[in-house]
Amino acid sequence: MNIASLYEKFKTSNGICTDTRKIGKGNLFFALKGPNFNANKLAEQALELGASAAVIDDAEYNTDSRCVLVDDALEALQALANYHRKQLNIPIIAITGSNGKTTTKELTRNVLATKYSVSATIGNLNNHIGVPLTLLGIGPDIEVAIVEMGANHVGEIAALCKIAEPTHGLITNIGKAHLEGFGGFEGVIRGKTEMYHWLIENGGTIFVNSQNEILSNIAQRRIKSPIYYPAKGDYLELSLIEAKPNIVFEDAKGERTTTTLSGAYNFENIATALCVGKFFEVDMTKATNAVANYTPDNNRSQILEKGSNTIIMDAYNANPTSMKAALENLSLLGADNKMAILGDMLELGETSEAEHFAIGTLSAQLEIQEVVFCGPHMKAAKRANPKAMYFETKAALNDYLMANTIENRTILLKGSRGMGLESLLDFIE
Ligand code: ATP
Ligand code: MG
Repeated sequence: MNIASLYEKFKTSNGICTDTRKIGKGNLFFALKGPNFNANKLAEQALELGASAAVIDDAEYNTDSRCVLVDDALEALQALANYHRKQLNIPIIAITGSNGKTTTKELTRNVLATKYSVSATIGNLNNHIGVPLTLLGIGPDIEVAIVEMGANHVGEIAALCKIAEPTHGLITNIGKAHLEGFGGFEGVIRGKTEMYHWLIENGGTIFVNSQNEILSNIAQRRIKSPIYYPAKGDYLELSLIEAKPNIVFEDAKGERTTTTLSGAYNFENIATALCVGKFFEVDMTKATNAVANYTPDNNRSQILEKGSNTIIMDAYNANPTSMKAALENLSLLGADNKMAILGDMLELGETSEAEHFAIGTLSAQLEIQEVVFCGPHMKAAKRANPKAMYFETKAALNDYLMANTIENRTILLKGSRGMGLESLLDFIE
């Protein structure tokens, strides 16, 4: 299939759509195959609903002159995205890492938007389909784009870089996330640093968090001129003043900024965004204001008041690294009424039991007055911290919270997405 002719269809379309439930008039429909579904079957319906053309890869459904038959619709989508990217003469900043990608992306977007017309990944569309869709969403007026890249296997970040051809990039951190798919921690390091390799080979710019030992060591060995932040002597100097729970940070001139973000780890995300902002010559007063005005959403380290309780709502996701960071952060808060409600960390493969046990051990060592574990995997954590409360199911924990009044506490709520711990909020007065 000729990519240039498909590009013509894209240019005259009203954007890409891969879901007939969301189709808009004039969309170019891509029939993608999922593990359980073949969207080729929906091509006809997509055209009836107003799609301008349908890209399909199953000859059986080639029933309309507006169908474009290709070998593989997903590969065509990726090739089209790369073709579009090549037409754009703009910097593309790629963000990957185990934790904090979306938060860093949103902060960076807000910082850069004080000076430029910015396009960034919508929500969490960060995989082999989301990255092409993000790229194809970059319009002609955009001056800089930010692309979040997620992965749970070696080779995926390299493939996403080939499609997006970033000019700038950063890895938020390397932690214990998606250990199952990466085949262990070494695999995570290999997988994430594929972005560094791509940028090194293509003369790109790399921003490196100097506080992160793994990344900073790799950068020292392999990267010619990395841009370090945020400690003294780095390109961007910032220091964390407190996180109780709101983060307050100070710049090199001693000016302080209070944010609505919690967790010392979010200071790294802030520093990243400001470092990128400085590099792109954004006015730093405007940049820090943009950070101060950013409020996280979607249960990512949100600070909520519920009755007499302060809740650190971090139920968006969890893995051993982010769980450890969140627990340590909670323990540092001054309050003597701290409570951690922790749900299972999923997708850990054979290390699951040991990682849950380690979280149990840590929770017993830290200064946290009440610890509550929830979920079948957390049984191992309970073994390590016998003083903690344990509920095998969320329903049992709901019952407990309904029957007992929880007051005047500072509560961390954290677990994997599959646990959906945010629903517990209804049971906390
Ligand atoms: P996903 O893999 O789902 O795309 P993500 O990398 O985009 O996740 P965010 O959505 O920004 O990450 O944040 C999810 C959670 O990760 C936060 O609520 C917080 O608990 C934790 N987190 C965020 N930043 C960091 C960080 N720098 N270090 C450790 N944990 C972090
Ligand atoms: Mg994300």
